[in-house]
Amino acid sequence: MFNKILIANRGEIALRVIRTCKEMGIKTVAIYSKADADSLHVRFADEAVCIGPPPSSESYLNIPRIMAAVEITNADGVHPGYGFLSENANFSEICRQSGVKFIGPTPEMINKMGDKVTAKETMIKAGVPVVPGSEGLLKDVKQGIKIANQIGYPVILKATAGGGGKGMRIVTKDDEFEAAWDSARKEAKASFTNDGIYVEKYVEEPRHIEFQIIGDQFGNVIHLSERDCSIQRRHQKLIEESPSPFMTPELREKMGDAAVKAGKSINYEGVGTIEFLVDKYRNFYFMEMNTRIQVEHPVTEEVIDHDLIKEQIKVAAGIPISGKNYYPKMHAMECRINAEDVFNGFRPSPGKINSFHSPKGHGVRVDTHVYAGYTVPPYYDSMIAKLICKAQTRDECIKKMQRALDEFVIEGIKTTVPFHKCIMKNEKFKSGDFNTGFMNTFSIDDCIE
Ligand code: ADP
Repeated sequence: MFNKILIANRGEIALRVIRTCKEMGIKTVAIYSKADADSLHVRFADEAVCIGPPPSSESYLNIPRIMAAVEITNADGVHPGYGFLSENANFSEICRQSGVKFIGPTPEMINKMGDKVTAKETMIKAGVPVVPGSEGLLKDVKQGIKIANQIGYPVILKATAGGGGKGMRIVTKDDEFEAAWDSARKEAKASFTNDGIYVEKYVEEPRHIEFQIIGDQFGNVIHLSERDCSIQRRHQKLIEESPSPFMTPELREKMGDAAVKAGKSINYEGVGTIEFLVDKYRNFYFMEMNTRIQVEHPVTEEVIDHDLIKEQIKVAAGIPISGKNYYPKMHAMECRINAEDVFNGFRPSPGKINSFHSPKGHGVRVDTHVYAGYTVPPYYDSMIAKLICKAQTRDECIKKMQRALDEFVIEGIKTTVPFHKCIMKNEKFKSGDFNTGFMNTFSIDDCIE
């Protein structure tokens, strides 16, 4: 087992990892930028190292500085969290070369799955259904239009390096293709310095259903059932839940088998997520794999009653997994609380939190790094808390979430709490009959109380 783990991240996930490490008797090292000196992850870790100024490129994304912190603290493991360097094959490789264990997959596995075009090719070989589309990257507009006509409109242009919903454009006819192509490429170039674009069929009214998997160093891969992440804005998740209201035991078996097959095809080691789109006929298609712990992992933790960070650390330490899949015993839901002004185009709202009261009670969990007096820095992701509720049934879970949201007091900045309150009252959401287009049918102005 590890002696000391350095957490190469910030915010709630850094705190989350520290908690599990303490329970496992592992020492912890926090790294932080100057903007995060007052952060709780710095306070609760056994040691903390300042690695640079606020911009991520000079701190949380700066590999030489992080490796220097590893060296001076003598850490034997690095937990990358999510975002930042968590899916960076180069970082995983440098950790390997430095003799420190990267708590995540090998660079080879990240490379196979990090690039979406390569990932799709790998899945086709493994016999996992994928969305029909171009074989590899598009060369130009002409080729794109030709393929779009073969698979039929609407289609979606996607960045091979994509993430966070960037570099995606829906195209409904030939005339729109060129403009969409130009803007997708521009956005991809700016976001990922890689403007490689591919095209696939735009699955209409799909659900986003993903499977949590875990693999050990001995070739065992299991799944931990699904999360439904269909409530999204601009392709970014806002609410996640498990089980999916759309799931049937038969579909869970089929999708779970495909997810395990996907993991086994690359001998996957660590926790990972296989994302699928599911159409209204319950056909499902592989979309991408995330080779890291995800923001929404607590939803799974609550329904199967296991600590996923602990499992992740155990497999990284070479401990084998049990070999059987896990199924939901409860219903759980997560609302992402962002520092954003929902009535102003979800504009970021950083600043000082004057008062903070988080909801409590049975079945309520809040994962957060903020507190009264904390200043949300403008440099990073706007997520400030995750509110997770669990109950026996979906209905009870929604009622608990409503109650918990009512108790949530965050003053000084704007947050997405009013938005979530509104969704929890929405009849379509409550009925469970929704898809990734939900937000198009929803008017935020109706939420003004
Ligand atoms: P990212 O890595 O940027 O998050 P994903 O490939 O995970 O991108 O897609 C994000 C979201 O975009 C999906 O959850 C879905 O809502 C939408 N999407 C992606 N591909 C398709 C598709 N072929 N058809 C319909 N919607 C899609």
